Amino acid sequence: MTKFKKVVGIYESKSSHWVGDGFHVRNLIPSTGLESEVSPFLLLDYAGPTHFPSSDKPRGVGEHPHRGFETVTIAYQGKVAHRDSGGNAGTIGPGDVQWMTAASGVVHEEMHEREFTRAGGTFEMIQLWVNLPRALKMSPPKYQTLLKDQIPQVDFPKGGYARVIAGELKGVKGAASTFTPVNLFDARINAGETAELQAPAGFNTAVFLLKGSGVLNSSPIEGEAKIALLDATGELIRFEAKQDSQLLVLNGEAIKEPVASYGPFVMNTREELAQAVEDYRAGKMGRL
Ligand code: MN
Repeated sequence: MTKFKKVVGIYESKSSHWVGDGFHVRNLIPSTGLESEVSPFLLLDYAGPTHFPSSDKPRGVGEHPHRGFETVTIAYQGKVAHRDSGGNAGTIGPGDVQWMTAASGVVHEEMHEREFTRAGGTFEMIQLWVNLPRALKMSPPKYQTLLKDQIPQVDFPKGGYARVIAGELKGVKGAASTFTPVNLFDARINAGETAELQAPAGFNTAVFLLKGSGVLNSSPIEGEAKIALLDATGELIRFEAKQDSQLLVLNGEAIKEPVASYGPFVMNTREELAQAVEDYRAGKMGRL
C-alpha cells in the first residue's frame, strides 16, 4: 500500500534581503532551520514577485564565485542573463531553468536581461542550491540551460500540471541531469483539483508553496512563500487545491557528509573553505 508522507511542519521565511540590486529574496532554507532535514538542498531563495520600474542601469549581482555545489535558477516572471568564467552565457525567462554546476569553481554574474531592465516589469525567480558529494566537489564545472519547451510535464485532471525539472514523475523523466538522485517538480494545481505526486520513500522532502491554498497530506497550507517539511517514510504527496496554487516539490537523497560553508563556498571542512578563498583570490576559478 502506498503511504502518504506526513507533514512535519510548515514554516515561513525568517530572512528577507537584497541579493545585489536585482533580487529581493525571502530565504526559506536555511533561515527556517531546515538545512539539516533537507539535504542535498542547501538554500532556497524566493525572489519577488517584485515590480521593477523601467531603467537603463543593469540590475543584478555582479561577478562572484561559487565552489562545491550547484545553483539552480527557476524563472517565473522576468528574464535573467548569466555569464560565467567557463565561457557559458545564456538568458532564461518564464518557464526556463538554469542548472549550473559550480563544482571546482566558477565565477559568474547574474543580471536582469537588458530588454527586461529597459521595459521594467515583475520579476519572480527561485534560486536553489544543491549540494555535491565530496567526491564531486572538485570536478569540472558544468552548465545546463533547460528551456521551457525542453521540460516535460505530467498533466492533472483539471488543467493543472507538474513540470519535471529533474528526476522522474509517473515515468516521465526530468530535463536536468543530476549527480545524486534529485526530484524537482514545478507544479500548478487549479482550484478544486487534487494532484498526487510520487516522491520516493527515504529521500528528504519539502514542498514550497509560492502562492495559493489547499490541503497538503491532511495539513492545511495557504498564503505566500510557505515551506512544508515532510517525513521521509511515505512516498505520496497529495495536494487538494482550494485556490489556484503554485508549488515547487523538492525531494532528494541526503548527502550524509559534514557541511562547511562560507558565503558562496560549500565544502566538507574549514580547511577546504580556506583553500577555496585562496584559490578564488589567486584567479583559479577563472575570470569573466
Ligand atoms: Mn551566483
